Amino acid sequence: MTLENQVSQGWQKLSSALTHQARPAPQKEGTSVNLPLTRGSTVVFPSLDDMRKQGQRRFEHEYIYGAMGTPVQHELEKIVAEIEGGSDCQLVSSGLAACTTPLLAFLASGDHCLMPDSVYSPTRRFAETILKRFGVETTYYPPCASPDTVKNLFKPNTRILFTESPGSHTFEIQDIPQLADIAHAVGAKLMLDNTWGFGIFAPFKHGVDISIQALTKYPSGHSDVIAGAVTVNTQEDWHILRDASIQLGQLASPDDCWLTLRGLRTMGVRLAAQSRSALQVAQWLQTRPEVEHVLHPALSDCPGHDLWKRDFTGAGSLFGIILKEGISQKAMEAMIDSLTLFGIGASWGGYESLVLPTSGGITRNHPCAADGAGPSFRLQIGLENPDDLTADLAQAFAALNGQT
Ligand SMILES: *Cc1c(COP(=O)(O)O)cnc(C)c1O
Repeated sequence: MTLENQVSQGWQKLSSALTHQARPAPQKEGTSVNLPLTRGSTVVFPSLDDMRKQGQRRFEHEYIYGAMGTPVQHELEKIVAEIEGGSDCQLVSSGLAACTTPLLAFLASGDHCLMPDSVYSPTRRFAETILKRFGVETTYYPPCASPDTVKNLFKPNTRILFTESPGSHTFEIQDIPQLADIAHAVGAKLMLDNTWGFGIFAPFKHGVDISIQALTKYPSGHSDVIAGAVTVNTQEDWHILRDASIQLGQLASPDDCWLTLRGLRTMGVRLAAQSRSALQVAQWLQTRPEVEHVLHPALSDCPGHDLWKRDFTGAGSLFGIILKEGISQKAMEAMIDSLTLFGIGASWGGYESLVLPTSGGITRNHPCAADGAGPSFRLQIGLENPDDLTADLAQAFAALNGQT
């Protein structure tokens, strides 16, 4: 199979389910194609008894008040759980809340948590501030550490092995099945931030207990929504997660759920195109004399590439670039400023291309792929023509080299 097909096949396979799931039930008098948008706080019942009975069904995604979710939220929860391959999903207000909510739900004072050094930096900050204040200690392990090394970092009170694959900014792929075995052997849970791998990495087939999604990225797909999802695969975990989410007041707004469901309809075709374009741009960057290393899991020299080949059915639209030693941060920033098709901005997974410097903004306790060379940045590849994107990068490199 060509590499172009390897990065896009998993996305293409999703498209029928994304088109046909979460649709209204057929009615004799005709059925609207889309679910109605229900906004609401108060829900009224014919009797107190009906209200009490409905309240007892909160683990069945039912609700007696808008803070427990609304109809489109629950349809979106079902389709996210299906794509992830888990039993139940809880929607929350952001991707970051999808990281913090299960940490709060499954950890207690006195516990220990392991996180990869390449973890999404707001998750690290949460561990360093609120988790620490509540008496949870966190140890950071190198994302490419051998499973045995990670095993040796376990303490008797380690309850969560948090993973993120690929890692933020440096894109290391982790050996999730082996890490899951290590965690399960001592009764700990494996949590995965699966935002990059949504739909192309099946978390529960690979031993994950709790999978995290920023729906803000590929699913909504249009840079107009902030929402997150947490998916589990046992009723025991579901009860813990659902209770904690209700207690923390976690939900996603009806409008955001509706927009995310609309975005999901086209996620398969968008990402099939974007993953191919991202590969084309990454391979073009590999040929540039200014580039030291392209950090894209589908490229053979990316840390964990063999694991990507083994475990993923596609690749995402986000990857990293390390420039040659000797190029200054200032020169790279001028180059970034001279790009015209790449927006300078946070987030990724939308329909448009984005660029952000990563050097200077990376916190690491251990040596990493971005060390020892020049400055680094990351690209999110959108739906533009990839030839236009490489032409834009070529003119920016010309500016970097003082040729314009
Ligand atoms: C963006 C992102 C998040 C947070 O998502 P928001 O919806 O922006 O809060 C979490 N994890 C990863 C890996 C991300 O890239």
